[in-house]
Amino acid sequence: MSQGKINVSVENIFPLIKKFLYSDHEIFLRELISNATDATLKLKHLTSIGEAKVEYGNPKIEIKVDKEGKKIHIIDQGLGMTSDEVEKYINQVAFSGAEEFLNKYEDGAKDTGIIGHFGLGFYSAFMVAEKVEIITKSFKDEPAAHWSCDGSPNFTLEESKKEDRGTEIILHVAEDSTEFLEEGRITELLNKYNKFMPVPIKFGTKTETLPKPEGAKEEDEAPTQEVDNIINNPNPAWTKQPADIEDEDYKGFYRELYPMQFDEPLFHIHLNVDYPFNLTGILYFPKLTNDLNVQKDKIQLYQNQVFVTDNVEGIVPEFLTMLRGVIDSPDIPLNVSRSYLQADGAVKKISSYITRKVADKLSSLFKNNREDFEAKWNDIKIVIEYGMLSEDKFFDKADKFALYPTVDESFFTFEELQEKIKANQTDKDDKLVILYASDKEAQHSYIEAAKTKGYEVLLMDSPIIAHLMQKLEGSKENITFVRVDSDHVDNLIKKEDNQISKLSDEEKETLKTDLEKTIESKSYTIQLEAMDSSASPFIITEPEFMRRMKEMQQTGGGGMFGMGNMPEMYNLVVNTNHELVSEILNTKTAKKKERLINQSLDLAKLSKGLLKGAELTEFIKRSYDMVK
Ligand code: ADP
Ligand code: MG
Repeated sequence: MSQGKINVSVENIFPLIKKFLYSDHEIFLRELISNATDATLKLKHLTSIGEAKVEYGNPKIEIKVDKEGKKIHIIDQGLGMTSDEVEKYINQVAFSGAEEFLNKYEDGAKDTGIIGHFGLGFYSAFMVAEKVEIITKSFKDEPAAHWSCDGSPNFTLEESKKEDRGTEIILHVAEDSTEFLEEGRITELLNKYNKFMPVPIKFGTKTETLPKPEGAKEEDEAPTQEVDNIINNPNPAWTKQPADIEDEDYKGFYRELYPMQFDEPLFHIHLNVDYPFNLTGILYFPKLTNDLNVQKDKIQLYQNQVFVTDNVEGIVPEFLTMLRGVIDSPDIPLNVSRSYLQADGAVKKISSYITRKVADKLSSLFKNNREDFEAKWNDIKIVIEYGMLSEDKFFDKADKFALYPTVDESFFTFEELQEKIKANQTDKDDKLVILYASDKEAQHSYIEAAKTKGYEVLLMDSPIIAHLMQKLEGSKENITFVRVDSDHVDNLIKKEDNQISKLSDEEKETLKTDLEKTIESKSYTIQLEAMDSSASPFIITEPEFMRRMKEMQQTGGGGMFGMGNMPEMYNLVVNTNHELVSEILNTKTAKKKERLINQSLDLAKLSKGLLKGAELTEFIKRSYDMVK
């Protein structure tokens, strides 16, 4: 038996580890299972290159909880340690045996999937244990070793009688950590961190029903047997080659990841690179709603199949955090702050690789099956629009497949749209006017009016659409987006119609005075226009610019501070060629004239959805009086 002092420079590192090393005490189990996995994978590598002349077999890792004895056991069948190795790897804090192994076996070991590298993981055991024992037998022909440490820097190391190869770690759980003696809590941890680790992990047993023997009667119970309860799937879909898995496998894996999710994913993207960085994973496009925030934090980050976090901020571009799935990369430095992470060269490359893959996938879906892409558009547009807004590189690619649906559900790319409308949707400055509605119901009468003119009307109803239109207007030449109920529409109509007014200038003067007398001109700019006699007599429009600024303010447009409460501004366009307008002009009694104007204004307000509350009640009452 040998005794000694653990080789650390500070007098007592344990309180430090306990308090500061990891903020989450629960990760001790992940660390110990990672070490057990490393020990198993190292043995696999050594047997494969003939350096270890033992049978590799079908090793597993077993977790046992002894609630009475207040102990947790982590048992592996890996390469084990000789007592010299315990001295070296365990007693020298912050010396990583995993790193040493990878350096020693360089190229060949790169793909072994070995996890450790800081050389501190083992000590996380002291976050929950007051005493830790290691009983370990190396694959080399040497006696087993028994190490024990009570959380002070003093340890004991002696020979042990353990016969079978591998390592058993025994945690004597501390008083403040007894939650980890609950089976349910351990199951929870195993599911969170170890669900896809590469070596089978056993936690207890379960009863399995066997098929009934031949000739069994209907009422005979099926025989059962106790089997190992393996909690993980050692070969998750993302570790396989895309060519080796089917669509069904991807869907199955999605269900494994999100057992509580009932919707199927719309499609997936398999990530797989090994140069200049190592990254695998599968991203899924779920059905998305317009609520940007609720759907974040669903992508899980792994390193060599060990769960690390579900906060991928800084690693995945923000607009893609709405996707789901798994990313696995040993190359992401996690011991640094998030802001440092974003500046890291490798991480930047990873982020732009993911963006490119997503764009390429969308592009191929668009090209290969446009009909299907159109059918899915509403469920995926929010990610694409958000991406076009925030990443210029993505914009350039997405510009070719982003769709602009019309209110009648035809879908155009931007280029197709330009082609389609260039013949009859230019304003007096020869700018291409892209008409759109944001709400099919509320803007119904305006949509109808535009359609009668033969204009295409897009339906653009995403929450960030105002920002995207601004961006499109900035990056394309000579186009302008105009909502169907906005003032710019007049420009379009004016150029088209070239109508001659039925009213003389003098009559127009009189009409304008009449209108101003009745209508408070503060809220409306009154405009007389000669339009087609079938168009509405009174139309309320809104300045496109002001309205859009307001919308952008609401959805958090940067730099829009100080614009505070922008006033509501409306135009009242009066069609001088409409019969009712002539009637107003020719009405002799002032009272009746006022009534006609008010009623017409209310109808215009009603069709823009502006008539509410007391005004609406009053209007309805007045209308009943008129019809009776
Ligand atoms: P790291 O895993 O980063 O190398 P750890 O502190 O987790 O650092 O472990 C230190 C070293 O102790 C490991 O590299 C390994 O050599 C050794 N070790 C820990 N657990 C085991 C185990 N279960 N079987 C064999 N060796 C182990
Ligand atoms: Mg480790």
